[in-house]
Amino acid sequence: MRLVAAEADKLDFRRGACPALSAPMQTGDGLLSRISLGEPISPAELATICRLCEAHGNGVINISARGNLQVRGLTTETAGKFEGDIRSLNLPLREGLAVEVPPLAGLDPAEIADPRPLADAIRAGAQGLGGLAPKMSVVVDGSGQMRLSELLADVRLVATKSANNVGWQVLLGGTQADGRVHGTFQAQQAIDEALSLLQRLSSLGPTSRGRDLVTDAMPPCAMMEDGFSSLDLALLEGDDAAVGIGLPFGQITAVQLAALCTEAEKQHIRAVRPAFGHALILFGDHSACNTMQVFAGRSGFITEDTDPRGMIAACPGSPSCTSAAIDTHSLAHLAFEQLEELLDGSFNLHITGCAKGCAHPQATSLVLCGSGSDISFIVGKASDPSFASIPAAESANALRSIAALVRKERLKDETSAACIARLGREQLALSITSGRT
Ligand code: SF4
Repeated sequence: MRLVAAEADKLDFRRGACPALSAPMQTGDGLLSRISLGEPISPAELATICRLCEAHGNGVINISARGNLQVRGLTTETAGKFEGDIRSLNLPLREGLAVEVPPLAGLDPAEIADPRPLADAIRAGAQGLGGLAPKMSVVVDGSGQMRLSELLADVRLVATKSANNVGWQVLLGGTQADGRVHGTFQAQQAIDEALSLLQRLSSLGPTSRGRDLVTDAMPPCAMMEDGFSSLDLALLEGDDAAVGIGLPFGQITAVQLAALCTEAEKQHIRAVRPAFGHALILFGDHSACNTMQVFAGRSGFITEDTDPRGMIAACPGSPSCTSAAIDTHSLAHLAFEQLEELLDGSFNLHITGCAKGCAHPQATSLVLCGSGSDISFIVGKASDPSFASIPAAESANALRSIAALVRKERLKDETSAACIARLGREQLALSITSGRT
C-alpha cells in the first residue's frame, strides 16, 4: 500500500482520483478501498471479504456503477492490513487500466464473440502507458445478453456480425449510443487500434479523454441495443443460469451481504461477480438462481427492474463524503416512500449531496441536491440552476406536494417524465411553495 497518513488529505481528495486497493481514498467516513475483480469469485470468498470489511472498515460495502466493490471506513492503521489480507486470498484482482467486459463474458451463448482475449491484450499492451486520465476506461463488449452500452467509455470495442463475419466496432467517448465510430476491424487490428488511441491519449496528458479524439468525420454508432439489464435471469449453457441482484442505492452492510453469501453456498451457487449498475451477478443452476432471487428479495435487495429503488440514483452523501450537505440515503428512503408512484421507469430520480452529481452525471427529470441546510430542486443536471429550494426538514411535505401534483395532472398513458416536462419548473415550484406551512 502506498498511502501514508500524512499524504492522505493531499492525495485523495483529488478530483477524479480512483480509490485502488493499493491507494485508498480519503472520504468522510474514513478511507475507501476498491476491489476490482477480473473474474467471478466463490460465495465463500465474497463472505470473507465481508468479514474483512467488518474487521478493518466500518462494515459498509458499495458496489459502484461500474461494478467495483468498495469497502468503506478503513483507517490509516487498518488499510494496510486490509490490503494484505485481501491479497493473501489470491483473488483474481484486476489492476492497472480499467478494461471492462460484460459480467457474462465468455459464458454467454448469445454473445457474438468472447471479449476477454481482446480485453486482456489491451490491458497488457497498455501496461506502462503513463499520462492517462485517472478514470480512463476501455469497454470491450461481446454483444451478448448483458451489455455495457450504458457505461461511459473513452474507447469502446463492440462485437458486430454481418453475414458470417465477426468484426469489432471501435468507438470513442460516451455511451454506446452517443459514442463516435472510429472504424470496424478484425480482432487483432481492433486491439492495435485501441492501443494506438490510448497512446495518443497518453501523449496528450492526463486531462485528455476519448471524446478529445473525435472528429466531425466520425459517425454516431448505429447499432441496435437489445441486451438485458443486469437484473434479468440469463440462461447460459445447459442448465446454467445467471441472475442479477441489486443493492439499494448501491450500498449494503457487510452483514447483509455475508448472509446472502451463506445462503448462496447453501444453494450451491458456483460463483458471484459484482457488476455494473450496483449489482451482483450469481452463477448457478436455473433453480438455485430462482431460489436466490426470492431469498434476496426478502432480504431487502432489489430483484426486479420495476423496483422503484432501482430508479433512484443516490451518491454516498453525508457522512461518507466530506463534500455532502445532506444524508442522501435517508432522503432516498423518504423519496421512495413519498414518490413511489412517480417512479415508473421513465426517469431516474437523482439525489445528490452536492452539485458535483457523482451518482448521475446525465440530466434527468428531477434532482434533489443538498445545498447548505437546504434541498434544491432541479430539472437537468445537479449543477443546473434550481427551480425551488426548501429547508431539509420540509422535504417530506415538498415531495408529497410534487406527487400530488403529478397524480392530479397526469394525462392518460402519460409517463412521469413526460408529465413533469409538460408541467415545467414553474408549476413544480408552485406546488412546493404552496404546500409549505
Ligand atoms: S455528489 Fe455526492 S459523493 Fe459526489 S462529491 Fe458531491 S456529495 Fe460527494
